[in-house]
Amino acid sequence: MQQRPVPIDGERVTAPEGLEVRAPYDGRMLGEVPRCGTVELERAVAGAARARSSDPLPAWRRAEILDRAAELLREPERQEAFAQTICLESAKPITTARAEVARAVSTLRFAAVAARELTGEVLPLDASAAGEGRLGFTLRVPVGVVGAITPFNFPLNLVVHKLAPAIAAGCPTVLKPAERTPLSALALAELLLEECELPASWLHVVTGTGDEVGRALVAHDEVAMVTFTGSPEVGWGIRAAAPRKRVSLELGNNAPVLVQPDGAWEDAAARIAVAGNAHAGQSCISVQRVLVHRGIAEPFTASLVEQVEALRVGDPMDPDTQVSALIDTDARDRVQGWIAEAEAGGARVLVGGDLDAHEVLRPTVLADVDPDMRVCRDEVFGPVLAVQVYDDLDTGFTLANRTRYGLHAGIFTADLATARRAMVELDFGGVLVNDVPTWRADQMPYGGLRDSGNTREGPAYAVREMTEVRSVVLA
Ligand code: NAD
Repeated sequence: MQQRPVPIDGERVTAPEGLEVRAPYDGRMLGEVPRCGTVELERAVAGAARARSSDPLPAWRRAEILDRAAELLREPERQEAFAQTICLESAKPITTARAEVARAVSTLRFAAVAARELTGEVLPLDASAAGEGRLGFTLRVPVGVVGAITPFNFPLNLVVHKLAPAIAAGCPTVLKPAERTPLSALALAELLLEECELPASWLHVVTGTGDEVGRALVAHDEVAMVTFTGSPEVGWGIRAAAPRKRVSLELGNNAPVLVQPDGAWEDAAARIAVAGNAHAGQSCISVQRVLVHRGIAEPFTASLVEQVEALRVGDPMDPDTQVSALIDTDARDRVQGWIAEAEAGGARVLVGGDLDAHEVLRPTVLADVDPDMRVCRDEVFGPVLAVQVYDDLDTGFTLANRTRYGLHAGIFTADLATARRAMVELDFGGVLVNDVPTWRADQMPYGGLRDSGNTREGPAYAVREMTEVRSVVLA
């Protein structure tokens, strides 16, 4: 199969070797992309490094590029084409893939706003005697070339969460998309470069493996900042490998949700069933740990099991499908291994745990789990909900916080005092009250504590990370 070339410094580039892209659901060959190495990377970084002097882009043009991209991505036919690409390369059910495209439109729009609002502040220099007679203010200056590295689970919107703020901030970018889902990213880059008047020096895509071109991108001297979304192991490794660079990390999680007897627990069961299994649990804020108060544990769990059992498993292209294949068979075998380990330790499989006729792992609910089992302790990244029962709120909060991750947590309660305690005591980057922790709007500051990362994304916040504050003093 012919390689689909990648845009590097205004040219369509192929490499001596390619990487196959296959549909996770049925193994169908979808394309081949270049396996870029240092040769392609050098060209990409050199192009990006001269972008700001050779093709300067004032804020109004950056905002117009982003608005134009949003407009084009909103066109029904294009929206559907992107959704189908996401669906095929990641096995994300088509309805969820369509929602991802709609979110990408919104991310682009918020980035256009951030470009227009990029500003500094006036400094009250005469507030100290030494500053009298001087005028001071700050500018936000682009950090320089950004290296953006993205994961497979949101092949479009998480790429937009890197590229759009970088454009808004005025940073030329070299993008390294996930090796299993590069096609949505390439289509987006083509849209920006060919139809939105983004100059060729501002965006370069190097497809390939993390170990090769990913590592080389992180190590490159001309790359001022690495913005990474992916697993904690890789992310913190990048932080350690580039101690002098700005490194923004959006990493994994094992999101807990508490269900209180005073909350709308039937509604909670329905939402948790969907939120734990959307994209087969492969979202960093998928519900994983379900913490339920003993007073309602029995009827809540029965309802949850019923709702999970009712989820439609199948071909991601079928609009009725709610859960489809994991990204590859290794991921599926790993998740099944963790379920087996939990069972061996005394957990009960209430539903799922097995494969359907197409070898898709069925959505699974586990009860009688122990917090030290991998299904509770680590990030499952699969369609598995682990139910734990607590007797009082203190214990519930302690269980929720008993994790090395800290991205999002949720609680269902009708009691204002409990909600207020949750906002303070749940130690996570985001706390959702009366909703699943899987909910996110693209403009909110999004990011985690501890192993889950060190930054906040959402265009306005990412732009801050991609700019330096420069103090200016006029005497
Ligand atoms: P991954 O860490 O395996 O890969 C992510 C990217 O890093 C890929 O492009 C990969 O090629 C690249 N990479 C791998 N090794 C590298 C290295 N040594 N140097 C540079 N780049 C390297 O993650 P994944 O399996 O694609 O994605 C799943 C993970 O991403 C989960 O842990 C999930 O929670 C996390 N995630 C987090 C967020 C968030 O916003 N916090 C969002 C989505 C996914």
